[in-house]
Amino acid sequence: MTAILELREVHRTHGKGEAAVHALRGVTIDVQAGELVAVMGPSGSGKSTLLNLAGGLDSPDSGEVLVEGRPLSSLSRKELAGLRRHSVGYVFQALNLVPSLTAAENVALPLELDGVSARKARPLAEAALAEVELSGYADRFPDEMSGGQQQRVAIARALVGQRRLVLADEPTGALDSQTGEAVLRLLRARVDAGAAAVLVTHEARHAGWADRVIFLRDGVIVDTSGPLARPEQLLEATA
Ligand code: ADP
Ligand code: MG
Repeated sequence: MTAILELREVHRTHGKGEAAVHALRGVTIDVQAGELVAVMGPSGSGKSTLLNLAGGLDSPDSGEVLVEGRPLSSLSRKELAGLRRHSVGYVFQALNLVPSLTAAENVALPLELDGVSARKARPLAEAALAEVELSGYADRFPDEMSGGQQQRVAIARALVGQRRLVLADEPTGALDSQTGEAVLRLLRARVDAGAAAVLVTHEARHAGWADRVIFLRDGVIVDTSGPLARPEQLLEATA
């Protein structure tokens, strides 16, 4: 079986000289299809750096990142851009919705960048919006939606088409706990349908949706656990 995401002994230093920060110091992980891995750790421990490397937004100083078995270092810039648009979905804490585009246009953006015509992209965008329970919101602009709805648009954009690797950096940061839980449910559903996902989170409750939790400290994996108990399992256990 090929891992959807593989990091092998990855090192990454930001900045130079006195200001250099060794953000990742030899990180090795793999994430299979059907697997949701949560990454936890203190602020500055390298979580976002790890996610950026996984998505080909940044490259390691040494070590190798492979997506669907392809070493990213072997890809041309054009191939890498194609892989980012086609195979990888991102959800960032800052939503990065384009304010002048409607919800459907925002969701369709990665498809259109990938060369899908607007006419073909529209139904795919509507399907992704339906998946996040925003049917009927396709023609709203971001400022006509609540924060939670905007976040779900961002999730739909990350899931649109059939992205095999979903990377989420504290995607529930700005959300109330109920909406946050809904976002996790969506991520879990997409993973159960065959994607692989990496979720950076501060909340143990959200990490409870993961198959595995990786703890980072100062750029090193210090611990890995199996699944944490999910809230509903805790409830069942105490019922
Ligand atoms: P986390 O997401 O866990 O908070 P980051 O991966 O953002 O951690 O950052 C890890 C370390 O690298 C921190 O010390 C941070 O200040 C530093 N860092 C991250 N990005 C940059 C950058 N572009 N330039 C300089 N230092 C950076
Ligand atoms: Mg971060």
